[in-house]
Amino acid sequence: MKKNLSILAVILFATCFALAGQSAAKLKVFISVDMEGVSGLINWDETSQGGPDYPLFRRLMTEEANAAIAGALDAGATEIVVRDAHDSARNILPDLLRPEARLIREWNGPLSMMEGIDKTFDAVVFIGYHARAGTPDAVLKHTMSLALFDVILNGVRVPEGAWNAAIAGYFDVPVVFLSGDKAICDQIRGIIGPIETVAVKEGIGTAALMMHPAKARELIQKGVAAGLKNLKSFKPYKPSTPYKLEIVFTDEHQALRASWIPGAVRTSERSVAFTSSDFMDIIKDFRLARL
Ligand SMILES: [Zn+2]
Repeated sequence: MKKNLSILAVILFATCFALAGQSAAKLKVFISVDMEGVSGLINWDETSQGGPDYPLFRRLMTEEANAAIAGALDAGATEIVVRDAHDSARNILPDLLRPEARLIREWNGPLSMMEGIDKTFDAVVFIGYHARAGTPDAVLKHTMSLALFDVILNGVRVPEGAWNAAIAGYFDVPVVFLSGDKAICDQIRGIIGPIETVAVKEGIGTAALMMHPAKARELIQKGVAAGLKNLKSFKPYKPSTPYKLEIVFTDEHQALRASWIPGAVRTSERSVAFTSSDFMDIIKDFRLARL
């Protein structure tokens, strides 16, 4: 009887230990939300404060962020941070955002669209993203700003999604999901590998074929949950060292100004390049070059 009791105690202790271990399993998710790739949106006017339809599309942006939060919660997320990553960085409606998430607003330092990311996160999700400058059949394509013609990282022409994936990779955090137009879904998979994607619209020249926003939200929720449940199969995106960043501006004068940054090399009339073995140097150079 005494022996049985001690066996029972061991089983109870082991069960409690296992349960405690389970509840302690954290899943901290960073969601970077841009606007150009939100379902239904087609024109710059709709992305800009002052545009007559901006209030509608900032709400749809907020609701796509909510769909991603719902997907993260379905997958067991224990902490969620949403980064408003478009234009003013003051687009998402704070009172409409799900209360399970916290929201980062306004611009700050060189992490830009990834402000707030660090090594404590387990996964990154991109919502409302768009293709790089110059991409055919892509909705509101650009790279960071219309002042940049191209951004080339280690010889690869990168969209914002791949650049931001490299920032996440610097902190050893993998990207598991992206939603946006079809062009960016194809582009991101071609650069960082087969992550979960949802194409909420497809560019037809300067027009686009749209998925209904409600359908987009349903697929985003499912896709984010699927990506996070499969987290172990995704690796952080880490370009090889030494890192070389070449920035091609649309205006020669900006290349001249960027060439004054210590370490910059003028590579052509409209371009400068930076090289470093520390990716944080490259991140800072990119931010300075765009000032
Ligand atoms: Zn944007």
